Amino acid sequence: MILIIGAGLAGLSTAYHLGDRPYRVIEKEKEAGGLCRSYQKDGFTFDITGHLLHFRQAAIQALVEGLLDGRLEKHVRRSFIYSHRTYTEYPFQVNTYGLPPEVVRECLIGFIATLAKPAAARPADRSFKDWILDNMGEGIAKHFMVPFNEKLWQVSLDELTSDWVSWLVLKPDLKDVINGALGIKDKAFGYNPTFLYPAQGGISVLPRAFLPGVRAIAYGSELIEVETKRRRATFSDGRVEEYETLVSTIPVPELVRRCTDLPKATREAAGGLRCASVYNVNLGIARAKVSDKHWIYFPEPEFPFYRVGFPMNFSPSLGPPGCSSLYVEVSHQPRSWRGGASIRSAGTGAGSTRPWRTPWPKASSSRSNCVHHDAHNLPDHHQAGTGGRPADHAVHRRASGPVPVPACPDFGRAGAVG
Ligand SMILES: Cc1cc2nc3c(=O)[nH]c(=O)nc-3n(C[C@H](O)[C@H](O)[C@H](O)COP(=O)(O)OP(=O)(O)OC[C@H]3O[C@@H](n4cnc5c(N)ncnc54)[C@H](O)[C@@H]3O)c2cc1C
Repeated sequence: MILIIGAGLAGLSTAYHLGDRPYRVIEKEKEAGGLCRSYQKDGFTFDITGHLLHFRQAAIQALVEGLLDGRLEKHVRRSFIYSHRTYTEYPFQVNTYGLPPEVVRECLIGFIATLAKPAAARPADRSFKDWILDNMGEGIAKHFMVPFNEKLWQVSLDELTSDWVSWLVLKPDLKDVINGALGIKDKAFGYNPTFLYPAQGGISVLPRAFLPGVRAIAYGSELIEVETKRRRATFSDGRVEEYETLVSTIPVPELVRRCTDLPKATREAAGGLRCASVYNVNLGIARAKVSDKHWIYFPEPEFPFYRVGFPMNFSPSLGPPGCSSLYVEVSHQPRSWRGGASIRSAGTGAGSTRPWRTPWPKASSSRSNCVHHDAHNLPDHHQAGTGGRPADHAVHRRASGPVPVPACPDFGRAGAVG
């Protein structure tokens, strides 16, 4: 028997592709989908958090399009960056037009300086920060790439490797950077110039589309312990499963913590893995079209969030007529970074300590026409004990209290977060 732990997209897809072979999927939540889920509240549908579909592999695209036949809509990306009190198009490095002239100049001069640097001076194993400096130059690094990515990843970019960036982060050529500084647009850039999104129902229609092809799935049962030598797994509801093959889709450190008989070196290596986690604040707003954009990146430190998106601009069905909705994403370091919670204490929740380091702006006033807000701590991939439950009351208080957003011309003044 093949035992699959977790009914997120990876677990569901594994089961789906196993066909007639004997397997069982066991999921700790009461529904499938993992990170890729949506929920309804007061007439709004929110994803946990914005999930858009863009594919690198044709086979995956064919799978998803087959599962959601006729239910996907294609969108031309409208994503922007808000910095220096203005909006510029994403990606930053080829769209500096509109920024203050001295910023544009710094970006251009820094980029041009990278072209003179010999390839030998660019080792393959350099840090993400060095990769940015080598490929984008000091101006683009200073005004977007470094502050945005440090806010997103919650570490110094000196501590990140750069081997993953090549397909995700655009390395522009000189003509594109100059065109972008002059406001000349002659092509689309970035890894997702178009994306697909379900016309109705939010992103949860994707995991649900797997379910008719998945035979054996149990919900509300959390993996507690694995004896790898005996090939036996124990679950929170008392279930004990013998397996031939275990497919785990849960965070690696959590799996390793649950395995009773792994070598010390493996445990220590897993304990050293780190991650960033995300708080997701969703707002329903009693006003139509608070923005015409799909999403906006916020690199500057005065904004505690790194991205705000507008789900009803992907799919108007995600809220009542005459309303808007938005999701706000705040990165933070999970508590487990600082101490390797034991398996017995896992599940007691992240709410017991102050859950993030990101400094919220000091409260002074608020004005809001929100009809609904909701906050979730995303079930991150590496953190013990937060498991995707709605965020604790501290998060709700912080999200709903007077947390003014520095004014953004587009939506901030009229629909402040909070
Ligand atoms: C903020 C954010 C934005 C994203 N945006 C996009 C996007 O726009 N487009 C895109 O394609 N991807 C996006 N992703 C990535 C995407 O969400 C993930 O790659 C994908 O959902 C991961 O699926 P998974 O099955 O590997 O893991 P998960 O979805 O994490 O599934 C793991 C499952 O295991 C369960 N589980 C955990 N522990 C146990 C246990 N002990 N016992 C039993 N069950 C357990 C969990 O409840 C969960 O259901 C985003 C991710 C984040 C965090």
